[in-house]
Amino acid sequence: MNSGKTGGLLFGTGGVPVSAESRSTEAGIERIAELGLGCMEVEFVQGVKMRPEVAAAVGELAARKKIALTAHGPYAINLNAVEPQKVHMSKERILQTARIAALFGARSITFHAAFYLKDSPAQTYAVVRKHLQEVVNTLRKEGNKVTISPEVTGKPSQFGTLEELLRLSSEIEGVMPCIDFSHWHARTGRANSYQEFLAVLDMVEKKLGRRGLDNMHMHLSGIAYGNKGELRHLMLAESDLHYTELLKALKERRAKGIVICESAPYLEDDALLLQRTYRELP
Ligand SMILES: [Zn+2]
Repeated sequence: MNSGKTGGLLFGTGGVPVSAESRSTEAGIERIAELGLGCMEVEFVQGVKMRPEVAAAVGELAARKKIALTAHGPYAINLNAVEPQKVHMSKERILQTARIAALFGARSITFHAAFYLKDSPAQTYAVVRKHLQEVVNTLRKEGNKVTISPEVTGKPSQFGTLEELLRLSSEIEGVMPCIDFSHWHARTGRANSYQEFLAVLDMVEKKLGRRGLDNMHMHLSGIAYGNKGELRHLMLAESDLHYTELLKALKERRAKGIVICESAPYLEDDALLLQRTYRELP
């Protein structure tokens, strides 16, 4: 891992960089290494279609290039769906993501766990918790040790507040939050200052202990938002996100782990901007 240079934080892209030679995962890893970045999230947002042989080759390449990998599961996941079949398929999609990700040595997989629909947050929490516990039980029986990291979501209609995910992580072994700081800012309209970022990190440590700060899976991108939260991803320079303040807070609390940038359209440019800014902090 290149983490020595960045004090334990790796920076990379959500998906294959736009400047990669092709859209393949391998070309993405090659490009991440060329750029001097440290990690990449493999996107299965439209479904898990990678074959096991390909996953094994991806894992070998990533190990050789010293690039850490994570994965993002399909968007078509709702553990709180009304129809039992949809819930079943949602669990299957998380399992498929975790199984293929384990083959390429991913440390963590993320996904958007659920929508509240007509249920209260408390009802939704209980349902999500039950299903996620079952998912983790299945994976552990298979010997799969990938960390299951539901994401902090960007819209108030989506399950996945910081509090909900920290609680899930404290109650289910093998679950840790994927903290998307852009989503959290878009959702709350706040969480955009050094003090507020420190407060988030302190909540993580309070709920999960030091291991919470030592194994972070984060998303950070430019973002546009309105009354209903997230609208779309932007470049950091076009958004109001105070990313330097966040990087300062991460350095202050000596956070370790992965920072995945999903800025649009030039995601690797912002990943490099974040890495450079972090390294230049005093
Ligand atoms: Zn996501």
